[in-house]
Amino acid sequence: MFDVAIIGAGVVGALTARELTRYNLSCCLLEKENDVAMGASKANSGIIHGGFDPEPGTLKARLNKEGVPLLYKAAKELHVPFKNNGSMVLAFGEEENKVIDELYERGKKNGIDGMDILSGAEARRLESNLSDKVTKALLVTNAGIICPYALTIAAAGNAMDNGAKLFTNYEVAAIRTSDDGFTVSSADGREITARYLVNCAGGFADKIAEMAGDKFFEIIPRAGEYMLLDKSEGDTVSHTIFQVPTKNGKGVLVTPTADGNLLLGPTAEKVESAESTETTAAGLDTVLKLSKKSVPSVNTRAVITSFSGVRASEKGGDFIIEASQKVPGLIHAAAIDSPGLSSSVAIAEYIVELLSRQGLALSKNPDFNGERADTHAFKKMSDAQKDAYIKEHPAYGRIICRCEKVSEGEILDALRRNPKAVDIDGVKRRTRSGMGRCQGGFCMPYVMKLIKEETGKPMTEITKKGGKSAAVIDRL
Ligand SMILES: Cc1cc2nc3c(=O)[nH]c(=O)nc-3n(C[C@H](O)[C@H](O)[C@H](O)COP(=O)(O)OP(=O)(O)OC[C@H]3O[C@@H](n4cnc5c(N)ncnc54)[C@H](O)[C@@H]3O)c2cc1C
Repeated sequence: MFDVAIIGAGVVGALTARELTRYNLSCCLLEKENDVAMGASKANSGIIHGGFDPEPGTLKARLNKEGVPLLYKAAKELHVPFKNNGSMVLAFGEEENKVIDELYERGKKNGIDGMDILSGAEARRLESNLSDKVTKALLVTNAGIICPYALTIAAAGNAMDNGAKLFTNYEVAAIRTSDDGFTVSSADGREITARYLVNCAGGFADKIAEMAGDKFFEIIPRAGEYMLLDKSEGDTVSHTIFQVPTKNGKGVLVTPTADGNLLLGPTAEKVESAESTETTAAGLDTVLKLSKKSVPSVNTRAVITSFSGVRASEKGGDFIIEASQKVPGLIHAAAIDSPGLSSSVAIAEYIVELLSRQGLALSKNPDFNGERADTHAFKKMSDAQKDAYIKEHPAYGRIICRCEKVSEGEILDALRRNPKAVDIDGVKRRTRSGMGRCQGGFCMPYVMKLIKEETGKPMTEITKKGGKSAAVIDRL
C-alpha cells in the first residue's frame, strides 16, 4: 500500500513525485510507456513563459507566475540545461501594436515584472535578424528556455533516489475505490494499492477520471508541429521570438533551445488523440512560412529533424487541478497545456497542498536530497580535467556519437542511473547521442551494442522507443 500513486510520468507527475519525497511517505509513479517523458513533456517548445499571457485570475496565471522562479531553482538543483534568455512578442502593423499594449497590461495584472515595450527599431537593435516589418515588440526579461525531457528525467530520477518507485509499461486500465483507498490495475494484470491517487495522465487524464468514476471534463488534443535546425543556426536569435498570440495559442516561434539548436514552430491543430504525433507537409509549410515572417534569414536548409507534440487542452481554457468532488483521495492535474512546463514546479507544490488538505500527513523527510549529480559533468570539464578523468575511466575516452561528442562512459551512465534508459531514444534523451546533424546514422549501432551488453537483451529486442519499434529484425 503506497501512500500516494501518481498516474503519468510526464513533467507534472515526475515533479509531484519529487515533491512528495520531501516528506516521510511512500509514493509511486505509474507510466504506460517504457520510459518517463513520453507524452507532451517530450515534445514541446521548452519555453519558460514570462507569465503575461494567461487570463488574469486563472490558475494558469497564478501558477505560471509562481512557477518561473521555482523552475529556475529546480533546474539548477537538478542540473537541467536552461537559460534565462528573455522573450519578445512581435507585432506587424497597427492592429497588432494594440495587442502588444494589451499583453503588457495583462502582464501587469498578472504581477509580471521586467516587461518593456520596444519600437520595431529597438527590437532590431537587440535582435539584428528580425524582419524590418516588425512595428513593435514586448520584451519579457524573466522568460527562458529549458530542456523539457531532461527536466522530467532528472525530476523522476531525483524522486527515485529519494525513495519513489517508478513502474513503467504500466498502462492503468482499471481503478477500484474502497474505504482504504484505491486499487489500480494495469492492462497486463498487475495491481498496486494506494491511499491517495493523483491523475497526471496528460492527454488521457479524462480516461483516468472516467475509470475512477469522476469524469467531468474532456481533453481536446491539439498537435503542434516543429522543425529543429542544426546547432550551426543556434545563434540566429538570442531571445525567444513570438508573434502576437491568436485564439489557437501563442503562435509560431523562433527560438534557440537550451542545447544550442534553433527551433521553429509549433502549429496548433485539433487531432484525433494524444498519440497523433505525425508531422504533415501542410503543418511544416506553415511553420516555415510563419517563422520566416519573424526572421527572414532562417536557414531552412539546416533542418535536421521535425516532430510533433500534442497539447492536452480543455474547453474551459484553464488547468484543472483539484480534489475530486466525488471520489475522496483523488486529485486531478488535467488539461495541463501551455504554460504547463513553466508552471510545473508550482503545479507539483499545489498538488501536494491539495493532498494535505485531503488528509495526507506531511512530516519532513530529513534524508531528502534535492540535488542530482550533473549528467553532463564530463562535457563541462576542461581538456586537462577530461584527460585526467579518462585515465581513471577509459570509457569516457571512447566517443560514440561524433556529432554531439558523446562518450561511451556517458551512455553507460544513462543506462545505469535512475531512471535507467532502456532503449535507443531513452539513451538519446539522456545523453544527446543521435541528436546531432546525422541523427544517429553513425552512433545507433554502437548505442545498441552498449544496451545489449548492459541489459543482456539480444539485438533484435532492442527498440527505438518501445513497443514494436525494434531497430533490427534479424541477422543476415
Ligand atoms: C506543442 C506543445 C508546445 C508546448 N510548449 C510549451 C512551452 O513552451 N512552455 C510551457 O510552459 N509549456 C508548453 N507546453 C505544455 C507542456 O508541454 C505541458 O504542460 C506538460 O508537458 C504537461 O505535462 P504532463 O505531465 O501533464 O503531461 P504529459 O507529459 O503528457 O504526461 C502524461 C503521462 O501520462 C502517461 N499516461 C497516459 N495515460 C496513462 C495510463 N492509462 N496509464 C499510465 N500512464 C499514462 C503518458 O504516457 C504520459 O507519459 C507545450 C505543449 C505542447 C504539446
